[in-house]
Amino acid sequence: MAVMTYKSDSLGLTIEIDHYTCDGDGECVDICPAEVFVMENEKSTAPNVDECTECCACVEACPQTAIKHSSC
Ligand code: SF4
Repeated sequence: MAVMTYKSDSLGLTIEIDHYTCDGDGECVDICPAEVFVMENEKSTAPNVDECTECCACVEACPQTAIKHSSC
């Protein structure tokens, strides 16, 4: 496991998800209005980063503070 980096060149932003601390409870999946996150093997991933609206809800919702967002 590692810190996963998801970059949107079109939006000029980056989301980092720390897979050491992510415990897979899926708060980010539930709260993201743009369906950016997908759970894979009980870890959050952000394959749809290009859909992000930069609302910062994922950063605030993660109980493990495992998500870093370049705009938040
Ligand atoms: S900032 Fe908002 S839109 Fe972007 S990934 Fe987080 S919850 Fe989704």
